[in-house]
Amino acid sequence: MNEYDSERMADLLASSHGLTPVEDPDRADVLILNTCSIREKAEDKVYTQLGFWRPLKEQDPARIIAVGGCVASQEGERLRRRAPFVDLVFGPQTLHRLPDMLDACLAERRPQVDLDFPDLEKFDRLPERPGRNGPTAFVTVQEGCDKFCTFCVVPHTRGREYSRPMPDIIREVRQLVDQGVVEITLLGQNVNAYRGATGLVGEGDLASLLERLARISGLQRIRYTTSHPNNLDDRLIAAHRDIPILVPHLHLPVQSGSDRILRRMHRKHTVAEYLEKIHKLREARPEIRISSDFIVGFPGETEEDFAATMDLVSQVRFDQSFSFKYSSRPNTPATRLRDSVPEEVKDRRLAVLQARITSFAQQYSEAMVGTFQEVLVTGPSRRDPAEWTGRTLCNRPVNFSGPAGIAGQIWSIGIEEALPNSLRGRFGSPDMPVAASGRA
Ligand code: SF4
Repeated sequence: MNEYDSERMADLLASSHGLTPVEDPDRADVLILNTCSIREKAEDKVYTQLGFWRPLKEQDPARIIAVGGCVASQEGERLRRRAPFVDLVFGPQTLHRLPDMLDACLAERRPQVDLDFPDLEKFDRLPERPGRNGPTAFVTVQEGCDKFCTFCVVPHTRGREYSRPMPDIIREVRQLVDQGVVEITLLGQNVNAYRGATGLVGEGDLASLLERLARISGLQRIRYTTSHPNNLDDRLIAAHRDIPILVPHLHLPVQSGSDRILRRMHRKHTVAEYLEKIHKLREARPEIRISSDFIVGFPGETEEDFAATMDLVSQVRFDQSFSFKYSSRPNTPATRLRDSVPEEVKDRRLAVLQARITSFAQQYSEAMVGTFQEVLVTGPSRRDPAEWTGRTLCNRPVNFSGPAGIAGQIWSIGIEEALPNSLRGRFGSPDMPVAASGRA
């Protein structure tokens, strides 16, 4: 979501002040740090980066330094006290006011801080998206969260749940498809809690939004992230069965396999309820891959709780997932719990968990060797620009040699080798069923 927000900040400042991105901070008139507070030590990283930028401000006091995102939201006025050379501080919900803040800062010659949560106006005030190179795009459809898991900063930094009206989203996606985008990822902190105005009567859920987006001609893949298990209802499960362009991959964070820890996390679901949803999903779309987020070493997690997480991983056979050691985030209820799990125990549990998840992910990758996979060619490979890189339906990177001019197209690629984090493929084998589509 921060990537989306950063793009939108660039769009805003391009349309309001004609600013364009530069590679070198020395050449920037405005330096913006868009921050994320989800990981440990995020604040420290922000202040370290600001320390690097301080000499640039001293060299040229007219240069503007801005800090946005969740750390700004969390730190508030403290940020200005610790780094008084910062000119603009804004939260994720006020990024649309950036041009006005910049004008006010220049006119009044004093810093501006805006950490409001005016959720209704943000998306109305963002400019149309300019053409971008690339066949994939993020589209934020929902922001904020009402779940208040005890470890999470999101409800405190992004605010309560808000869903964009469907007509606005459909317009944005149509525009992106006209620009050559063939795959969109719908974003929201709690995306499957989406309930947006339909533009006709009342509100619609994520399943209705997906149905409407799937009718856009030229759109070939839809993903959405991140979901809460409680909002995965039967209608959304049916959408996975009925909408062919909805990819067979779902990121559905469970966090722990122990009901006791899930209660302490205030996740409001049990392991059995989670498994029931996975079962229904697999009935609806047998080839679907499930990934998750896990936290190990949550306060009070015993060896028994951790063993329950390992059991759950084996039952579900998760594909590539994210796992972290618990660390307390400022202003969250879990900070009041005693962080009882020693660091070395957290390290061990994390290593054990990651090894198990990696082994399942590797099995999935190896099962693809010798098959043809539908691959969206996203551009030249970073490691070897003479090669192409693309993504399978389950979002595995595939690198392969191929003819010029296929970026943005979907091809059937023969998979030859499963590497730890990617696949090697072959373009143009004689019996390969070619399924070229998309736009050059
Ligand atoms: S549902 Fe997700 S975003 Fe909401 S509080 Fe829980 S972890 Fe955070």
